[in-house]
Amino acid sequence: MGKICSCLCPPKNQGIDKKEDEKESLITSSIVSNQTPKISKRDFNVVKLIGQGKFGKVFLVNKKSNGVLYAMKVMKKKDIDRNHQRLNTINERNILIKCQSPFIVQLKFSFQDYRSIYLVMEFIQGGELFYQLRKSGRFGEDRAQFYAAEIILALEFLHENGIIYRDLKPENILLDSDGHIKLTDFGLSKSGIDESNLKTFTLCGTTDYLAPEIIKSHGYDKAVDFWSLGVVVYEMIAGLSPFYAENHKDIYKNILRRNFEIKPYFSQEAADLINKLLTMDVAERTKYGTEVKKHAFFRNLDWEMLEKKEITPPFKPRLTNNVDLRYFDEGCTGQALNESVVSVGSTSSYLYQDFTYVNDD
Ligand code: ATP
Ligand code: MG
Repeated sequence: MGKICSCLCPPKNQGIDKKEDEKESLITSSIVSNQTPKISKRDFNVVKLIGQGKFGKVFLVNKKSNGVLYAMKVMKKKDIDRNHQRLNTINERNILIKCQSPFIVQLKFSFQDYRSIYLVMEFIQGGELFYQLRKSGRFGEDRAQFYAAEIILALEFLHENGIIYRDLKPENILLDSDGHIKLTDFGLSKSGIDESNLKTFTLCGTTDYLAPEIIKSHGYDKAVDFWSLGVVVYEMIAGLSPFYAENHKDIYKNILRRNFEIKPYFSQEAADLINKLLTMDVAERTKYGTEVKKHAFFRNLDWEMLEKKEITPPFKPRLTNNVDLRYFDEGCTGQALNESVVSVGSTSSYLYQDFTYVNDD
């Protein structure tokens, strides 16, 4: 079981509005215990840079006490503040703690210092689905079916737990060393959404995968994840996202006009699934999304076996050892780890309340 400590009191937040501040304390106050595990950056050796996102760098690290490898996401507090991401950062940590699913990356530790916050997760060695897709060009429908189905199980788990993922895209879908999928990156997710259909209103997500109601700021619910699923299924089979255009404006236009082309080589089942997941009407899409496991595209799939990981993945990463980084971007792994890469900028003056988490089994 995870242990969460009540640690380090924050000086009053600066540069953040009061409402945001109140929301933060609501989120953190529910997770307090009086144990104080000690964990910090000094407990880990940094091996390589393996990923770089908008808000953080992800390093392969090993824990000095036992040599176990982890992926450590480091986010500078200065950047978090500049991009108004305090709440999202706390959310990401809390959602990861809540999510114990075989198809979602597990958080092992979280902690902070005055510069940065650190999320230490299990290391998923097969890299991004994006990498495999770019290498293969496009996937056959059997392979796309397997990944789509495991993604559906991950989304089902999230939705049942009141979480909208909001950032489903091939860069956030990782493959483990056996070839099963794991979702990572919960920086944009929203929790606390329940069946009363509370809607949420922030413009976020990567352009190609945004649902029309997000662009129109109509507020949205779990239906946005079904839309992104439709985009990802299309992209796996076609090798290109359905609304692809050279610039953001044209992508938005394509999405809002539902302008995409079903390729002649799509099976009837794949075309029907994509058409349904890319339905403009939110209520209708939610209905299709909720029943997606019964769709003809999955007719030969045993969902119970899939859930137990008893179906052999269509592709197994070819790894020679546990630090084989062949599936990670050489632009990252090739970087020398000097201070400027590992170090995390200037000091901030605040600490998050109750941020430390230890799940060391
Ligand atoms: P974004 O730009 O999508 O908002 P981000 O800053 O939130 O990104 P992440 O998506 O969490 O960062 O991580 C960046 C990249 O690091 C991922 O796309 C992936 O390649 C790699 N990565 C993240 N978590 C792990 C993990 N647990 N194991 C292996 N690699 C990981
Ligand atoms: Mg990401």
